[in-house]
Parts: sequence; structure tokens; C-alpha cells
Amino acid sequence: MSKSQILVNARKEGRTYLSEIESKELLRGAGISITPTKLARAKEEAISIAAEMGFPVVLKIVSPDVIHKSDAGGVKLGLGSEQEVADAYDEIMASVKQRQATAKVEGVSVQQMARPGVEVIIGMSQDPQFGPVLMFGLGGILVEILKDVSFRIVPLTARDAREMIRDIKGYPVLEGCRGQEPADIPFLEDQLLKVSQFVEQNPEIRELDLNPVFAYSDGAVAVDARVVLESEG
Ligand code: ADP
Ligand code: MG
Repeated sequence: MSKSQILVNARKEGRTYLSEIESKELLRGAGISITPTKLARAKEEAISIAAEMGFPVVLKIVSPDVIHKSDAGGVKLGLGSEQEVADAYDEIMASVKQRQATAKVEGVSVQQMARPGVEVIIGMSQDPQFGPVLMFGLGGILVEILKDVSFRIVPLTARDAREMIRDIKGYPVLEGCRGQEPADIPFLEDQLLKVSQFVEQNPEIRELDLNPVFAYSDGAVAVDARVVLESEG
């Protein structure tokens, strides 16, 4: 689906939240590194997509009513066989039904299980004074509890991208410590610049989250993405 088609569809359905599938497609089109992801509308389809992608895979709920997929029991990681995919599909459907009985379910996303890396997050939100600002931080518990993040105003310069990565207190983690592989910092800088360009070119986007991005010593890949549009009017 083309970028404009994704936006037109969402508008037509009165949605401001794009699905993970739609968000990833838009961001991939903007040159951002995204883990291969496909929509499956039924169990059989999930199995055949997984077999084609190669195991292990990840299954996630796709529903406009489920924003935090893991909280709803909607994420199953490291599925190594067709049987595991089938079981995970049933468990996801049961769990979402139990927790959010009225959620409209489109299916599941099937994606490659990315190898572990340093988890970082890239986000965009609107500042009432400065307009769109990008955020960078380490992923997981460090972002949520320590709020170890840095911000720069869009459009980012190459220097902004450089600085905002080095500004966070957890920067030594990205340089590699305790035997952990160092992150590919130039690649992350480039991803930040690409997100900035994407935001600049799409003023209808109100909010964006790549959470998490796995950073490696060679490159990085976003495994989850969420785009929110401005409400109309
Ligand atoms: P949520 O909607 O709860 O944020 P996510 O898509 O971020 O759901 O998945 C939850 C967690 O599962 C992520 O933070 C990440 O650690 C892991 N994860 C998600 N997708 C993948 C993937 N494709 N490969 C490896 N790990 C993944
Ligand atoms: Mg996430």
C-alpha cells in the first residue's frame, strides 16, 4: 500500500492511530530500518507467512483498540515452529478476548524475531512552543523510570543527532560495556535524521514512537512502531 493510501484509509475509518503494520510500512518507506513484518488475517495465514519468513518469528495482536500489545497478552516472542505459531495465535486471541472483550481484531502481525541488541527508543511529539521534537533514549526500564532521554527540535541537524545521542546518561552503554557489543552510533544518527525528515515531510503526523529499536555493532532495527495522526478539524 502506498503512503497516501495508508493515510487515506485511516481518515476514511475515522482513525488517528495507525496500526503497527501501517506505521512500519510508512517508516520503511522513509528509509528507516524496520524488522520485516506482515499482516495475517487468520491462523493458517500466520503459519504460512511464518514458514516463508523463516523461524523464529514473533506474533502480535493487530487491533485498533489495543495500544499496548504486551499488556493485553498480545505479543509472543521466539516462535520456532508451525505448531508454536498456531498455539501462540490461539493464546493471543484468547487473552485479548479475555482482557478486552469488545476489541475489534484485524489479525496478527508476523515478524522476524530480531536478535538481541541494545534497546533504544526514538520518538516524536509536539511541543506547544517548538512544534515537533524528537526524543532519543535507552529502551525499557531506563526510559520509563530514569527518564534518561534527550530532545531536539525538528528539523535536526547532523550535529543535533550527534549530540542528542551523547547527551543521555546511559551513553556509555551504547559505547559497549561489560562485554556488551557497542552500538553503531553513526547508524543511529542517520536514523534520527531520517525520522526528522519524515516528520518534516508529513505534518499530519502528531506523534511517533519506535519503541524499541535494537541497536547492533552494525546497524539497528525497529521492532515496534506507532504513528498517531493529527485529528481532523
Ligand atoms: P508493545 O505494544 O507492548 O510495546 P512491542 O511490539 O514493543 O509491544 O513488543 C514488546 C517487546 O517484545 C519489545 O519491547 C521487544 O523487547 C520484544 N519484541 C517485539 N518485537 C520483536 C521482534 N520482532 N524481535 C525481537 N523482539 C521483539
Ligand atoms: Mg513497544
